[in-house]
Amino acid sequence: MSILIKNGQLNGTATDVLINGNLIAEIAADIDSAGHTIIDASGKAILPGLINGHTHAAMTLFRGYGDDMELYDWLNNKIWPVEAKLTETDVYWGTKLACLEMIKSGTTCFNDMYWHWDGTAKAVDEMGIRAFVGGVFIDLFDTDKAQEQQEMSEAIFAKRDTVSNRIKFTLAPHAIYTVSEDSLRWIKAFADTHDLLIHTHVSETAKEVEDCIDQHSVRPVEYLEKLGFLGPNLVIAHAIWLNAKEIEILGEYNVKVVTNPCANMKLASGAFPFTEVQNGNITIGIGTDGVGSNNNLDLFEEMKFVALGEKLRTLEPTAAPATEIFECATRNGAQILGLNCGSVEEGKLADLILVDLTDPTLSPGHNLISDAVYSANGSVVDTVICDGELLMQNRNIDGEEEIIENVKKVARDLFSR
Ligand SMILES: [Zn+2]
Repeated sequence: MSILIKNGQLNGTATDVLINGNLIAEIAADIDSAGHTIIDASGKAILPGLINGHTHAAMTLFRGYGDDMELYDWLNNKIWPVEAKLTETDVYWGTKLACLEMIKSGTTCFNDMYWHWDGTAKAVDEMGIRAFVGGVFIDLFDTDKAQEQQEMSEAIFAKRDTVSNRIKFTLAPHAIYTVSEDSLRWIKAFADTHDLLIHTHVSETAKEVEDCIDQHSVRPVEYLEKLGFLGPNLVIAHAIWLNAKEIEILGEYNVKVVTNPCANMKLASGAFPFTEVQNGNITIGIGTDGVGSNNNLDLFEEMKFVALGEKLRTLEPTAAPATEIFECATRNGAQILGLNCGSVEEGKLADLILVDLTDPTLSPGHNLISDAVYSANGSVVDTVICDGELLMQNRNIDGEEEIIENVKKVARDLFSR
């Protein structure tokens, strides 16, 4: 199967891109059309698919449920009670909606953490998107629960090859305030033995840091260092309340960081120190977090929030420029997940999007990257290709109506249980 994208704008020049299998085979001015499925990209620009570095896909089911609340109040009184009732079918449909939304807004890969791994994996498999699916691990410091969670992780790991190659299993301890030391040590050893990523939340709130100091006499990053938990296979979300020493430690261990400004602003958790973390030579990606706290999965919007949030935090308009922010959502995202994508180059995975240059928000078109970060939202995306497969063209995705109808039904049923 080969797809030839004809006459799309790549770095400002009309270009053809040939996709063979799941790779970008050739990029040239005029490639012979014979034998290929042709996509006419006139009036469109070719960009790498965006990479959502941290989310909880099935939380689309909680869109608009429990807004304007403090994080722990929101988790304890709204989210965790409903999550306890979730079935695999609920998660499957919630993830279908998330994939639909992500594809429609130009995301080709996401890094997930949630319950009912099989439900998420099945939805991702069907939707054609790429995902790192973490089996969330919470033991609440209970040894029986820890044992149960370890067995669950092992069981998911054992069947990881039964799903599409686009889906990778990760270990996903929720946070230091929900997972015991012993479990964190077990997770680290398991991840290192099997060459897996670990995906967790760190220093999302000032309270988390205060509690950590009370219990362990050190800050969260120092605590994780003491446990031997840090390393290049660790991806931490939020990382808001870091001091200079913690940033230095994260850099030393080559830990990857994902910022989620919408959720942080909405829950008033704090502001990510983008400039300091970047100066610490740490790879920064961008995530939406779950829809329950965002309330959408549009990475175009999220890029703008990262840039504007940092300018506001530092009172420095030159901070977090558009080109760097775009890299965070593409090249850095790929680097964090160890993927051969994130840019439009020969030999890279064919995870690409076409954006409509006739859209008002991309006009007159002085600078595409600036427009993508500051002006556009996901509705400028016309075509999405992931792993060499066409997932959306002219904004049409097969089965869209059925997904939305079923999600409404499933959500109604869940909230009346
Ligand atoms: Zn999260």
